[in-house]
Amino acid sequence: MFNLKASSILIVDDDRAMRLVLKLAMEEEGYTVLEAKDGEQCLAEFMQYRPQMVLLDAVMPGMDGFSCCQRLRQLPEAQDVPVLIITVLDDPESVDRAFEAGATDYVTKPIHWPVLCQRVRRLLQAYWGMIQLQAKIERERALTLQLEEANRELMRLATSDGLTGLANRRYFDEVLDREWRRAVRDRLPFSLMLCDVDCFKTYNDTYGHLMGDHCLESVAQILAQSVRRSTDVVARYGGEEFAVIMPNTPIAGAHQIADTIQERLAQAAIPHSASFAGSVVTLSIGLICTVPALGSTPTAALTKVDQMLYRAKAGGRNQTCAAADASALAL
Ligand code: GH3
Ligand code: MG
Ligand code: MG
Repeated sequence: MFNLKASSILIVDDDRAMRLVLKLAMEEEGYTVLEAKDGEQCLAEFMQYRPQMVLLDAVMPGMDGFSCCQRLRQLPEAQDVPVLIITVLDDPESVDRAFEAGATDYVTKPIHWPVLCQRVRRLLQAYWGMIQLQAKIERERALTLQLEEANRELMRLATSDGLTGLANRRYFDEVLDREWRRAVRDRLPFSLMLCDVDCFKTYNDTYGHLMGDHCLESVAQILAQSVRRSTDVVARYGGEEFAVIMPNTPIAGAHQIADTIQERLAQAAIPHSASFAGSVVTLSIGLICTVPALGSTPTAALTKVDQMLYRAKAGGRNQTCAAADASALAL
């Protein structure tokens, strides 16, 4: 809860005696009082001490209360602070001018003290209420941001593979299904790649499981760096197998990616003394391209790409075997 008495009030009046009686009355109510004798001083004091309220005389030499009120309202720091104009002028035009200048309320001289004190109290209560509300909104906004960030992190954890940071199998299945349906709808070529590290069992046996993990991380990095489009998704399909979804990609484009992967892996030259396929870590790659038919599912494509991978293995490993449907070749 806020404490009204902790409020400070800036009294602006060119008449010293008036300032004094107002000060005494406000101090009697428990508020802290600041004083200014003209508009300029009011603006300066306001910026220096940031009071919670301004009691402003309308008729002053130089900058009058109306102009001063207008100037205050232009300060972002003073926009919500209640300004109570106190004046001998009570003609309708002056009342309109005061509110047009941004005054929160208006009281006339001679001052009816109990009324002034009630008005001040009400205005301060409303001001502090608004400040509390703003703070609450700010806290809630910060909380929402934190929650959104936590949700993003959860999403990331739920969709990525812990070892390699690539998409996990769950996310792969989701994207495969979504992109397949899009390809059916748009009659677009769809390429799918399945890679398997050659002789990885003997790699683990030779270098140990930990080195095996490092090797998988390196391969994953090469795969991720070899795809070009943001719509391509590289996933850890399982164990030492990786998959790449390439929506809207014809067979030639998919082949280029496979070649890039093979070349970069060869350049990385990760030693593998126990491989049948060479002296470094290599990949066998299965690749297919199709324009998915209406009513089809990705299952047949997965079977087909697995067959291509098997053919690459049977053909001696460290190679890519690809197949494109007639529908995809016709494009
Ligand atoms: P091929 O050339 O025919 O693919 O032979 P391979 O030895 O690679 O295939 P196989 O399926 O016999 O063995 C795969 C090995 O990959 C066995 C398994 O222990 C290893 N493996 C799977 N996941 C991980 C992993 O997360 N880390 C490590 N270090 N090894 C893994
Ligand atoms: Mg395997
Ligand atoms: Mg393998």
